[in-house]
Amino acid sequence: MRNADIPDLKLYNTMLRKIEKFIPISNDIVGMYTCGPTVYNFAHIGNLRMYIFEDILKRVLLINGYNIKHVMNVTDVGHLVSDDDNGEDKMEVGAKRENKTAFEIADFYFEAFKKDLSRLSIINPSIWCKATQHIKEQIAFVEKLESKGYTYVSNDGVYFDTSKLNNYGELAKLDLEGLKEGARVESNNQKKNITDFALWKFSPKDVQRQMEWDSPWGKGFPGWHIECSAMAMKYLGEQFDIHCGGIDHIPVHHTNEIAQSESITNKKWVNTWLHGEFLILEGNEKMAKSGKFITLETLIEKNINPLVYRYFCMNAHYRKALIFSWESLKAAENAYKRLCSKVIALKEKLNNNKHGEINEKYYMRFLKAINNDLNIPLSVASLWDMINDNEINDNDKYKTLIEMDKVLGLNIENMEVEKINIDEEIINLVEKRNIARKNKDYATADLLRKEIENKGYILEDLKDKVNVKLKN
Ligand code: AMP
Ligand code: ZN
Repeated sequence: MRNADIPDLKLYNTMLRKIEKFIPISNDIVGMYTCGPTVYNFAHIGNLRMYIFEDILKRVLLINGYNIKHVMNVTDVGHLVSDDDNGEDKMEVGAKRENKTAFEIADFYFEAFKKDLSRLSIINPSIWCKATQHIKEQIAFVEKLESKGYTYVSNDGVYFDTSKLNNYGELAKLDLEGLKEGARVESNNQKKNITDFALWKFSPKDVQRQMEWDSPWGKGFPGWHIECSAMAMKYLGEQFDIHCGGIDHIPVHHTNEIAQSESITNKKWVNTWLHGEFLILEGNEKMAKSGKFITLETLIEKNINPLVYRYFCMNAHYRKALIFSWESLKAAENAYKRLCSKVIALKEKLNNNKHGEINEKYYMRFLKAINNDLNIPLSVASLWDMINDNEINDNDKYKTLIEMDKVLGLNIENMEVEKINIDEEIINLVEKRNIARKNKDYATADLLRKEIENKGYILEDLKDKVNVKLKN
């Protein structure tokens, strides 16, 4: 149950274009569906920003006392390179690129994705569901739509007829007339209406696909959108609380999920739709799996702790675009390292015989920020203000930090000296200074100490070693 002292949780609902009080369908459990990865390549840091946002949302729900059933799909078939139902299946593209089977590609990149999530302290969903393991459910879903008269069969597949609905495109506030006018260069002439979309695609006659299944309409594979409707309904029921994804999903993917699902049930499918803004590269360049591509592994190779990237993402509200540059990531790294050294120093001063209490003033500020549509930048500001407040006793401070970390996920409890990776440049300077001291060249040693201090570090000469710490 919710703790009565916590301020109301308010979230921005894309469907209504406004912030509203979150009221769950059932007090026992909140149903949450997040569109997962298409596993034909590594996730890039733009994709990962989205999963960090969803993780924070989930942690905020948990801190508000809700139990959560979180379902995430794994798109391992049927997502075509173009959203308008043309082009090759991304999995088959990946298989050709790497000379592997589409199934091997899917397994490999799903494992890589899970590893990324774990390195970013992202809590796993309650249920992972793969599209290829739910073909039966997807076919049954299309059959139901067919029996209700929402589909038509063309040369290359079974399509959903969007003209049968009078509220199609409500989520995206689509201008259907404008779309029709702009449809002169329509690339898929199999469709009756520009907004119609594939539910089932036929395997091409002249090409042997790796992933294909029999269906009442012929051999083929499911369209991209149908998996989310079929699996969300299987695991979360005909109505559930929260559905999320990136803003790119609003006009096509989520719009089509709603069309399919509500045509089956005749009722509102999802109560709250949340969408995360994009990570963009300096110069307004889009990060795409086919273009400039920075992965978590790229950061790790540069000796950057994945949690630095998590901290970096918390600089911006999830509904604001976040611009990535190496300089701004460096600034986040410095702040994260400063946090580590503050936490480590705090741990050393803890009185183990005393129980810390949560500091109400700062914790309430923190809760107000997170419950106001996940204002994480403001919540992080309250964390820093508390750290810098000398009036609070260390045990209370630490206890409050641990509580705040239940949302932030920066792994405060396990911060250790070794985990603050000191810049290589500083390590070299410290080594040079050690040699100077060994040679009794104290003038050089002092100059080196100054240089190290000017770069933001402190040296502590102990009996048998030198400690390097970040300046507070
Ligand atoms: P995909 O694996 O390509 O299906 O994408 C997974 C998720 O990443 C989707 O929710 C997209 O909306 C999201 N996404 C794609 N590109 C970016 C980006 N540059 N910044 C933030 N999220 C993105
Ligand atoms: Zn989806």
